[in-house]
Amino acid sequence: MQRHELVGQFKALRLHGMAAACEELIEDGIRRNHSPDQLLESFLKAETVERNVRSISHQLGAARFPVSRDLDTFDFAQSTVNPAQIRELYRGSFLDQARNIVFVGGPGTGKTHLVTALGNAAIRSHSKRVRFYNVVDLVNQLEAEKQSGNAGRIARRLTAVDAVILDELGYLPFSHNGGALLFHLISKLYETTSLLITTNLSFSEWGNVFGDAKMTTALLDRLTHHCDIIETGNDSYRFKHRNPATKTPKS
Ligand code: ADP
Ligand code: MG
Repeated sequence: MQRHELVGQFKALRLHGMAAACEELIEDGIRRNHSPDQLLESFLKAETVERNVRSISHQLGAARFPVSRDLDTFDFAQSTVNPAQIRELYRGSFLDQARNIVFVGGPGTGKTHLVTALGNAAIRSHSKRVRFYNVVDLVNQLEAEKQSGNAGRIARRLTAVDAVILDELGYLPFSHNGGALLFHLISKLYETTSLLITTNLSFSEWGNVFGDAKMTTALLDRLTHHCDIIETGNDSYRFKHRNPATKTPKS
């Protein structure tokens, strides 16, 4: 079989890693006098590496992060969070235990940055599945699927995910129906999927968002059962690092 036919066969079998590396691996094998076993091993390795890369890139797309953020660009000196606690979460064991994390703090204090960086690491370093939602968008989607007679679809999809991020709880209240749907979803994910929530509200204020005190108590009971709480304070990084041209002039 000609070399290009070999490559064609690999492609037909969807062995894209082998197809892409074929030429180089054969030439390299000849040069280094590799045995047939060594050659086969190098082909398998090329395929495995390519599949891992493809899977990570697929999962990064499926997560729908609104921005790309990493811990490398997070300046701990500018934040009230405990670096050791964040680094421990970065190691990802909370995902295997389906523990939850709540990030509480004012606007611009790094909540979305940290939660996105953690989601990124979960995919890249721990091969997990993550889904990011702005919480209001998710509630709208839950209401829409219910209206169209497809209730439960999102919940089924999300139980297959390792971590669900709910960003910006508390900026807008939900309708009573919307709050109940979110409560129902969170109950379904309990102890199977990690929930990572960012909010500007203290727990005592959550009732105002859900509009139902009993339901909020039940929700907080489940959520905080296995939970890390990260306080990001009220000092806005954005405000501290705003463009000098926009700073308030001294009177
Ligand atoms: P929040 O979600 O709490 O409103 P963000 O995470 O969106 O805040 O942070 C606002 C901006 O400031 C983002 O661009 C973020 O990357 C940046 N930022 C916040 N805190 C830090 C920090 N400690 N180090 C570096 N960048 C930060
Ligand atoms: Mg944010």
